[in-house]
Amino acid sequence: MRHYEGVFVDGVWRPSERRRELVDPSNGRPFATVGLGGAEETNAAVAAARRAFQEFSETTVAERLDLLNRIAAAYEPRMDELADMIAEEMGSPVSARVQVEGPLAHFRQAGKVLEAYDFETRIGETIVRREAIGVCALISPWNWPIQTLAVKMAYALAAGCTVVCKPSEATPLGAIVLTRILHDAGVPAGVVNLVVGSGRTVGEAMTAHPDVDLVSFTGSTEAGARVGQVAAQTIKRVSLELGGKSANIVLPDADVAQAARWNIQRCFFNAGQSCHAPSRLLVPRTRMEEAIDGILDEVGRIRMGDPRDPSTTMGPMVTKAHYDSVRRYIRTGLEEGATLICGGLEPPEGLSDGAYVRPTVFGDVTPDMAIAREEIFGPVLAVMPYDDEDEAVEIANESPFGLAGYVFSADPERGYAVGRRLRAGRVFYNGAPANAASPMGGYKQSGNGREMGIFGLEEYLETKAVFGFSERSRALPSLVR
Ligand code: NAD
Repeated sequence: MRHYEGVFVDGVWRPSERRRELVDPSNGRPFATVGLGGAEETNAAVAAARRAFQEFSETTVAERLDLLNRIAAAYEPRMDELADMIAEEMGSPVSARVQVEGPLAHFRQAGKVLEAYDFETRIGETIVRREAIGVCALISPWNWPIQTLAVKMAYALAAGCTVVCKPSEATPLGAIVLTRILHDAGVPAGVVNLVVGSGRTVGEAMTAHPDVDLVSFTGSTEAGARVGQVAAQTIKRVSLELGGKSANIVLPDADVAQAARWNIQRCFFNAGQSCHAPSRLLVPRTRMEEAIDGILDEVGRIRMGDPRDPSTTMGPMVTKAHYDSVRRYIRTGLEEGATLICGGLEPPEGLSDGAYVRPTVFGDVTPDMAIAREEIFGPVLAVMPYDDEDEAVEIANESPFGLAGYVFSADPERGYAVGRRLRAGRVFYNGAPANAASPMGGYKQSGNGREMGIFGLEEYLETKAVFGFSERSRALPSLVR
């Protein structure tokens, strides 16, 4: 069994007596242990980040750009190793390359944003400066174990902040390797610190810490609400990226079967464990048969199995506990009277040792059912009929979440008009891909704040107004550039 240290403070890995066993969800076997930190290690990490802040926040844009480029260069050759690691610790198949390619794109994009960003602007005789906010706590979930943390790191470093990271205790290995990569790339001691541990101990200690200026949190809405409460005691800035129950409205002029096929691919990617998953598919009542044909055809193409096999397209749930939770929702759907189109509680053949759940699609789902309202975070899709466009928009918006929305239509004007009515932070028309420069974040209980692009950089900046400098009188050297 391998062992990894999980506490990195001031450029040094600290051994820890407390350990957590990591279990391969594809076969239920423990394969590694990780050293855990607690309140003491969290305090040491925050102190190191605070000490490093003064100097790092005064680095020039060119220096930080160089650092981001070195990180990208050190990261790229490690992508295969990281993909294998994600497969082992969370079960996401190695074929899901975006899990490891995404972070590289985001390190590069953060560099582009940094290079073009104006840290000083003018309002009359006032200079408006944007300055690094300070020490940031970066808390990430297990489902995109590298990307969620890498995005935060990339923009925090671009801004000139120092960080203390806490990945999910269920999937810490990607974050550990990422930290080693940043260290190898020359990130100065104390600028990036890592404490693996539970949310209740390490996460809350970071959130409550008076020397932490910002918490950037990605995870469940429940934990995000707790982070908001704890952070309020010290009035720190909180950026929350939370859960979703996103709707895909297929308008009657769309190719319904094709849209349904796309929905299966997108919703069941990462075995449904993605915050943006279109987990509600809204189909015109009269076109339901076409949708079901497309669904069954696409579900038939899914290859469940060992996430290390390159031909596998769907792996297990991340843990046995999460597997139980997803199966409880399938049972609820059956009890609520939804029609089972495919999947169900039966374990997939030959895979009963792992936490595998069959891709499951329910039809005739109504807005009052739990499977239509709650985030299941597994391969479970709710197909909901609608009679007219207004009703479709109403159903889509009738959710406490507002992370993403999807629209399929042959007519871009109609698609855009419906997209404008959706209360969601990102809307995808006809399955368009996202790009790394665009903002990401949610409306309503899907969070506040935005990550990525200029919007992501600005999350990590404070704003200062400096009065009394006319254009002519100002010959001051900029502190930022
Ligand atoms: P989670 O909320 O259980 O945990 C997320 C992180 O928060 C972990 O590191 C955990 O240890 C920590 N944590 C838990 N309680 C805490 C507390 N009281 N204080 C501080 N930290 C605490 O979520 P998860 O199960 O790891 O991830 C799945 C959830 O994340 C889903 O709801 C999903 O939608 C959401 N998610 C959202 C986005 C997004 O960008 N909006 C992206 C990925 C995942």
